[in-house]
Amino acid sequence: MADGEPKRDDCDAPPRKKRKIKYDQKYTAEYTDEFKCVVRYAFGATSAFCKLCRTDVNVAHGGLDDIQKHFETQKHATAAAAAKSQPALTSFVNPDRQADVAHAEVLFTSFLAFLVNEANADQQEFSLTLT
Ligand SMILES: [Zn+2]
Repeated sequence: MADGEPKRDDCDAPPRKKRKIKYDQKYTAEYTDEFKCVVRYAFGATSAFCKLCRTDVNVAHGGLDDIQKHFETQKHATAAAAAKSQPALTSFVNPDRQADVAHAEVLFTSFLAFLVNEANADQQEFSLTLT
């Protein structure tokens, strides 16, 4: 060390460690665009919600990669297979039959209206004959 250089007191202290800033991934709408069964989790911005498993998936560390890892779990595979075997709700509804039911309801309602109208007319006639 040369005589002209200023002395530093902290030379014996260990070097400061550089703090690593941690950034958490947060749910974005592109997760839902990519995977239809994943939606925003209501109780945390760093989680997504899998509709098939009905569970939250922490996406804070890997984002889309965390979701991919969730899809590889046995729980998700079982839920996906069960959902696939479920028939669609539309298969239980016959759209042509719904029109027939609506038509029958309209006919029955108009028939009731006709009967009420006739009954009122008869009462008026009856009340006129009494007076
Ligand atoms: Zn799942």
